[in-house]
Amino acid sequence: MKKLILFTLLIQCLSVFGQSNDRPNFVVVFCDDLGYGDIGAFGSPMIRTPNIDQMAAEGQKWTQFYVGDPVCTPSRAALLTGRYPIRSGMTSSERHVLFPDSANGLKQEEVTIAEVLKAEGYATAAVGKWHLGHLPEFLPQEQGFDSYFGIPYSNDMNNNGFFGEYSKNADDPNYFSEIDYFDVPLIENTTTIERPTDQTTITKRYTERAVQFIEKNKEKPFFLYLAHSMPHIPLFTSKAFKGRSKASLYVDVIEEVDWSVGQIIDALKVNNLDKNTIVVFTSDNGPWLLFKTHGGSAGPFRAGKGTTFEGGQRVPTVFWGPGIVKSGVINEMGSTLDLMNTFAALSGGKVPDDRKMDGYDLSKVLTQKADSPRKEFYYWAFAELHGYRTEQYKVHIKQRDPINYGQPTITLDKPELYDVRADISEKYDLADNFPEVVQTLLDKMEVHLKDVEGSTPDQLAERLPKE
Ligand code: MG
Repeated sequence: MKKLILFTLLIQCLSVFGQSNDRPNFVVVFCDDLGYGDIGAFGSPMIRTPNIDQMAAEGQKWTQFYVGDPVCTPSRAALLTGRYPIRSGMTSSERHVLFPDSANGLKQEEVTIAEVLKAEGYATAAVGKWHLGHLPEFLPQEQGFDSYFGIPYSNDMNNNGFFGEYSKNADDPNYFSEIDYFDVPLIENTTTIERPTDQTTITKRYTERAVQFIEKNKEKPFFLYLAHSMPHIPLFTSKAFKGRSKASLYVDVIEEVDWSVGQIIDALKVNNLDKNTIVVFTSDNGPWLLFKTHGGSAGPFRAGKGTTFEGGQRVPTVFWGPGIVKSGVINEMGSTLDLMNTFAALSGGKVPDDRKMDGYDLSKVLTQKADSPRKEFYYWAFAELHGYRTEQYKVHIKQRDPINYGQPTITLDKPELYDVRADISEKYDLADNFPEVVQTLLDKMEVHLKDVEGSTPDQLAERLPKE
């Protein structure tokens, strides 16, 4: 009898131990300015992305996946907090994103995915572009990450006037810039270890760090946030990829990112983690069309980065995780805003309940291919509400120039309405045909605007005093 009790206790202990190990690991690969049309599985006729294509074939390819904002800083805040960036003050009508002279960043009281998972015993690492504040009090270790390695803002910053020169050469698909034109630091935790960063090896070095983190934490659950600096201009590749595509520098760069994805997947397989890990591949916003052949393609969608057209906010997204994710194509809505709720549901973590959140739990879509709970999306840019989408219709009241989003916001004389299921390119304005639909969507926008009243004020506008 004693033996039986001991045996039962042993089994219980093992099952509890087993459960804690069963919690999935999460890897988010977040590209910078990668367009919807820049991946083979999403229709690129030119760019070879066999590793991402394989992920899409084995996992879930999402065709209507939205970023929370069409530019870098707010989009990153949206992903990590599960909140439209207007709520955290991480979007601005004065400055598009954070810059090296910015005084602020993501406030400490914001709760990130890393903090939610860390509370559940996860190991956490941020590798790559941060862009949520470069001062020590805003770096990743203040937001739930155990470690950080990367360029803390965009790779084109501190450019000493070279930015304009670069844009002039954007007609040349193989124009190659010099690394010292862009005086960006490479940071390890809180220390600058290199400046300017040798960007030719940046994708490779981010990848090495990511693989090391996976190997080091194979015995415990982990969250890896790998935010590539590429393909944001200026474009750089390692020697092995320069000229490899025989197409253009942009194509070389994406092929190196795809190689990186292959390295991550291989590391998971070698360490027997592939059945218990979810890898999300996506982008922070659409392609930067101003940079012509150095920017990517939004595929069938209108416009690109910085706009609230579909080309600015719909991004190529794959969820991979054999053993967890049920394979298929998901033609329903999802968003980076939803990763917080989804990861919390899969890990047993707690979504903050003391503030307004904007995410949905997609875990049943991933595991059972259930209907997506996301049935609507608000299009914010530069602290202004531009539009709103339900499952079928999207209304615009404001827009930005489709190519040069830096121009001031255009407030439309009258709202435009698109059937984004039938007309994915937003070509045919149906507002005159369906005035009652327009009114219903405008009413929803009014309610949403009331809901964000009293949010954290603009954190992007303030600059550090000049030295
Ligand atoms: Mg970006």
